[in-house]
Amino acid sequence: MCASMQWKWELDSRLRYSWGMGNLPFDFAVENFPLAGASLYKVGGPAKLALLPRTRAEAVEAFAWLCTQDLPKIVLGGGSNVLIADEGFPGIVIFTNELKALQALGDGRFFVEGGVVLDTLVREVIIANNYVGTGALTGIPGTVGGAIYMNAGTVNGSICELMDSVDVLTEEGLRTVQMEPSLYSYRDQGFCPPSGLILAGSFRFEKAEEDQQAIYDRYIERRRRTQPQGNSCGSVFKNPEGEHAGRLIESCGLKGTRHGGAVISEMHANFIVNDSGATCADILELIELCKRRVREEFGIELQEEVKIFGAR
Ligand SMILES: Cc1cc2nc3c(=O)[nH]c(=O)nc-3n(C[C@H](O)[C@H](O)[C@H](O)COP(=O)(O)OP(=O)(O)OC[C@H]3O[C@@H](n4cnc5c(N)ncnc54)[C@H](O)[C@@H]3O)c2cc1C
Repeated sequence: MCASMQWKWELDSRLRYSWGMGNLPFDFAVENFPLAGASLYKVGGPAKLALLPRTRAEAVEAFAWLCTQDLPKIVLGGGSNVLIADEGFPGIVIFTNELKALQALGDGRFFVEGGVVLDTLVREVIIANNYVGTGALTGIPGTVGGAIYMNAGTVNGSICELMDSVDVLTEEGLRTVQMEPSLYSYRDQGFCPPSGLILAGSFRFEKAEEDQQAIYDRYIERRRRTQPQGNSCGSVFKNPEGEHAGRLIESCGLKGTRHGGAVISEMHANFIVNDSGATCADILELIELCKRRVREEFGIELQEEVKIFGAR
């Protein structure tokens, strides 16, 4: 195990298991776990092992064990911003979906575990109390933990702006990071490394003047009009500074371009949709096409917002 985790961890018999052939480290571990159903893209092969902790204590325990394993690892929430290789992920996936505690702390403050569905936070906390935040978070699929990791949001703001602190597990252990603007930026943050796990966040909301339900309805309706339905990861690329990735791709005449079962959406060029049984390879082919054509036409290097695992 990582020496640095020993502050927290009693070495027990489970750590000495060599898993495989049914000899699993936890009763919430599953071998050869199919990942296509766990990603909104609905593509990808299985993970070697999946851990599905049901409580914060189990997640801490599972994460400590993960640090002892010499295999690649990823954390997954709602799977709404990931693309997984057709061959699968040759390592361990830890899912946060069962970490669902949501507690009011008073004065507009809330403790929210990483597996809470973001839309639940929006509807049951923000709209229910008419807090500011609906404009930033409406219509974004996935979990609160995934949203914090991505600093998800819209032109109206992002999730980290609404937070007081975040509980992060890393190989060094569990720490609570006080949130401050220098720690996050557009679809990025500096407090949780790719190998870390966001257990929970503390939010502080302010009362809004405008009716938040009306804002929610307006933005849901706008998404219906401007974004394609179907299996996707939302925007594939980050917007380059002062530009829109969708506009650049559209200007290259790529809307509607197909590869296998994947298509660059006619409705929104920054969406690549799994239209009819696409593979990860089909989607990657279109990603590379968009990057190449935008580079050739505009000299701009598009950066993926989607997180790609097991491929490339
Ligand atoms: C139709 C559609 C519309 C979208 N619109 C928007 C939008 O308007 N704005 C926007 O910002 N995004 C948007 N997205 C992208 C996506 O929904 C967000 O990035 C979302 O916040 C990801 O959350 P998730 O739980 O699904 O994360 P996942 O897809 O499971 O994971 C995404 C990344 O976060 C990491 N991660 C997940 N959970 C944790 C955790 N608890 N701790 C540490 N790391 C973690 C994963 O390892 C991965 O790197 C959209 C996606 C779709 C499909």
